Amino acid sequence: MVQVIEWVNPGGDEIIWRYPNEVIKWGAQLIVHEYEVAVFMRDGKIYDVFGPGRHTLTTQNLPLLYKLVGGSNSPFKATVIFVSMKEFQGKYGGETQTRELAPIKYYGVYWFKVADPVQFITEVVGGQSLYDAGDVSRFIRAYFNEGMMKHLSAYSIVDLFQNLDMVSTQVKVKLMEDFRRLGLELVDVKIEGVNTTDEWRQRLFWLMHTGNAQAVMQMDTVKQVAAELGKSGGASVGTGMVLIPQLMQPVQPAQPAQPFGGVPPAGYGGAVQQPQQVAQQEICPYCGKPIPPGARFCPYCGHEIKRCPNGHIVPEGARFCPVCGAKIG
Ligand SMILES: [Zn+2]
Ligand SMILES: [Zn+2]
Repeated sequence: MVQVIEWVNPGGDEIIWRYPNEVIKWGAQLIVHEYEVAVFMRDGKIYDVFGPGRHTLTTQNLPLLYKLVGGSNSPFKATVIFVSMKEFQGKYGGETQTRELAPIKYYGVYWFKVADPVQFITEVVGGQSLYDAGDVSRFIRAYFNEGMMKHLSAYSIVDLFQNLDMVSTQVKVKLMEDFRRLGLELVDVKIEGVNTTDEWRQRLFWLMHTGNAQAVMQMDTVKQVAAELGKSGGASVGTGMVLIPQLMQPVQPAQPAQPFGGVPPAGYGGAVQQPQQVAQQEICPYCGKPIPPGARFCPYCGHEIKRCPNGHIVPEGARFCPVCGAKIG
């Protein structure tokens, strides 16, 4: 009876299959279907590769293995791996940190296929000794996820939430390079969602509505300073809080040179705004326009301005103040 080597009914998500019998007879029939490649290996090394078609194994079409077995016509040992060249879909999801160490979660879908079966088997199947389709899929998913984590962590939280299209495109290019190294082609990547903690969502809200990244990024420092002051001997509870408005002021820009020797030019009168006043100006987080200090409603967009017990503007639905951490409501 003629030996038939064929991958019968490959599963929809099976990327490789190992022919279970390692003893091959000359004259065996090798059937390779469309979108498949069959690779002959021995001792972890790749010898001969067959594309789609029906092949009778002879000393002519297995020259390397024939040479290896010393020109003998008796059955020989080899591992036959079938590789599917079809496109596969994988789901991913994970956690990482942004450039400013904001924790983020992400998930999505990616599509890939084998581009170079010899490289794929060398790097993944043989290289990792993964001969089971499930193990290979898990390895690829972990590899993708690791790359995703690494590449996403190079971005800021604002980029991730405001320029996700740009981030996706750039990350995709980097992941494609990673995949090429495994003999795989990353066809496409879709980031379906990115999320962060409540606290970072509130900071983000602030960032996106006021654009004042510096103030938002100072918050941790301010909270730490306040906590330290609160701890110091003799200080009454809340001493640190009193200092917060000063700490929270944006760094003063360098004074521009006064072309008129410090005297305001005629016509400006007393209306020259002091930088100090500009710094104390509050900004409506909904429309971005300056509002009177302590305003309960924005005079421009009419939105109610929610405040913490210490008077800081807080995002809607916030459970604590993003500035001083006070509980709301
Ligand atoms: Zn407004
Ligand atoms: Zn507050």
